[in-house]
This record gives sequence, C-alpha cells and structure tokens, in this order.
Amino acid sequence: MDYFSTEITNLIEELGRLPGIGNKTAQRLAFHIIHMPKEQVDKLSDTIKSAKENIRFCKECFTLTDKEICPICASKERNKKLIMVVESTKDLAAYEKVGKYDGVYHVLHGAISPMLGIGPNDIKLKELMVRLKNDVDELIIATNSNLEGETTAMYITKLVKPSGIKMTRIASGVPVGGDLECIDEVTLLRALEHRIEL
Ligand code: ZN
Repeated sequence: MDYFSTEITNLIEELGRLPGIGNKTAQRLAFHIIHMPKEQVDKLSDTIKSAKENIRFCKECFTLTDKEICPICASKERNKKLIMVVESTKDLAAYEKVGKYDGVYHVLHGAISPMLGIGPNDIKLKELMVRLKNDVDELIIATNSNLEGETTAMYITKLVKPSGIKMTRIASGVPVGGDLECIDEVTLLRALEHRIEL
C-alpha cells in the first residue's frame, strides 16, 4: 500500500538511488528536505544542477573540475614529469590532503574489472598513453590494492614497460581492498614514500 503520497514516494525513491543511502536513510532525508525552508531547498537543488552543468574533465589529467585545466595541472609549482595514476577524483583529493606530492595526476575514472564488464577502453587509459608521449620521468601507479586496482596496475605496467618510463607502485601499506579516501594521511604518505619500482 502506498501510504505516502506519490510526491513523497518519488523523493524517497530518488534519494534512495544514491550510493550508501538505504531506504530508511532515504526516508529520513526526504522528510528533512520537506521540512526545510524553501530557500534552502532551492539552494540545494540549484547547487546540484549547477555542479552537474559546469563540472567536466580536466583536459590534461581528467580529474573533475569546473575549468578547462584543473588548478593542479595549471600550477607552475607542480612537476609535470611526475604522473600519479589514480582511480578517481576522490583518490586524488586524498593525496592532495596529505600535501606532500608535487607531481600531477592522471584520473582513470574506474578500474578494470572483468567481473563488472569494465575493460581497458572503459577507463581513461588511452588518454594516459597519449600523455606518456610527452617527457615523463616517472609514472606512479596508485590504483587501489583490491582485485580491480591490481588488475589495472598490471595492465598499465605491461602497456607502459616497453617505453622505458620509470614506473613505481605505491607500497602495500595501503590496506587490501581499502578505498584510498578512507585511509589516513600518514598511511598514505608512507605508501607514497615507500613506493616500489616495477
Ligand atoms: Zn588536471
């Protein structure tokens, strides 16, 4: 029985599509939103729409940004010959929070997963290969240490090795299966400092 009106049910359903939001949380959020002042609701929905309209991939590193070139790639302080490959903009943010890395990134937007049907062409790998035609001193592979991350790291290694570019993998201090964004800064810094050559 539909004991909520359609509008409320729709709102709960839409919120429930978000990752990590179960039905109970979706209900709680829906009722919270309904009770919010109208201006606040307008601001929230405008912010979501504007973010969706204006956020795009950086032309160089493919992170999510609202500019053509993201602030990291645009910075003169960053070493363009040092590229760290990460799975997502969230992972990039985790390393930026540590604040000790002065290279640039390459954001893959995913990892190879035969089980989920995600192949090399579904992530920003071709784009990485194009970048590697430029002068690069070192490629740090910082994909997650779960199955997908390791598969991706191996794939990139095979692909890039013949070019002779120095390749390193962040140390295994990063817990297996751990999402990079959930790892504390000390662990992340250690993983980066103790990276191993491939
Ligand atoms: Zn960038």
